[in-house]
Amino acid sequence: MKKQFAIIGLGNFGFYLATALFQMGHEVLGIDINPKLVQEIRDRISRAVIADATDPQALKELELEKMDAVVISIGSLLNNSILATLNVKDRGARRVVAKAVSEAHGRILTKIGADEIYFPEKDLALTAAQRLENPNVLDYLPFMEGYSIVQLAPPPSFIGKNLIELDLINRLGIQVIAIKELVPENVVMIPTGRFVVKDSDILILLGPDDALAELKEGG
Ligand code: ADP
Repeated sequence: MKKQFAIIGLGNFGFYLATALFQMGHEVLGIDINPKLVQEIRDRISRAVIADATDPQALKELELEKMDAVVISIGSLLNNSILATLNVKDRGARRVVAKAVSEAHGRILTKIGADEIYFPEKDLALTAAQRLENPNVLDYLPFMEGYSIVQLAPPPSFIGKNLIELDLINRLGIQVIAIKELVPENVVMIPTGRFVVKDSDILILLGPDDALAELKEGG
């Protein structure tokens, strides 16, 4: 499932993010105003472009509306970060993720339409604290070749059935580890077999990649 990403700002965070997504097999467009950084990343991602993201014209030809997500990784230059986020929203990008250096910065970016905000230092500190306190098995799972955890809207055939009737564990080797209920908002961890799936639920599943792919295509 190859996805398309654009990363604007190829400083430390943007650079690592862009190269990591490319190594995962996705198509990655990198954008920076600094020609040296663009040159440096050119051979490590799909495409790298010198552009000033504060200039709406400069983003016009980059087809940002086609990307699965556009990440604005301009941290310290508040003005540029805000203008770039506005411009990316104006281009019709579907999922806009922006990096913020402070809570206030994050609030501004949310107000102008960013769908998600990353606070790299804060987020990493929280993850580090959790890992130090309690090494989590979830940290090892991504390294189990052939298995993934995915979240999925239930296929129409699931609606109104309980987990015993669906019997995903015996039919497909898939374990339902949690269910996000949207109305009212709630997460049911390790649901029992009596849980009845609703149209508005999101299933969080652990299982073999091929079985998960089959389910995504309609169950
Ligand atoms: P980090 O801490 O991850 O290195 P920085 O905030 O220092 O993040 O890096 C921001 C990056 O964004 C720099 O590489 C800078 O050249 C780039 N940048 C800043 N303004 C613009 C802009 N208007 N258009 C495109 N890239 C920009």
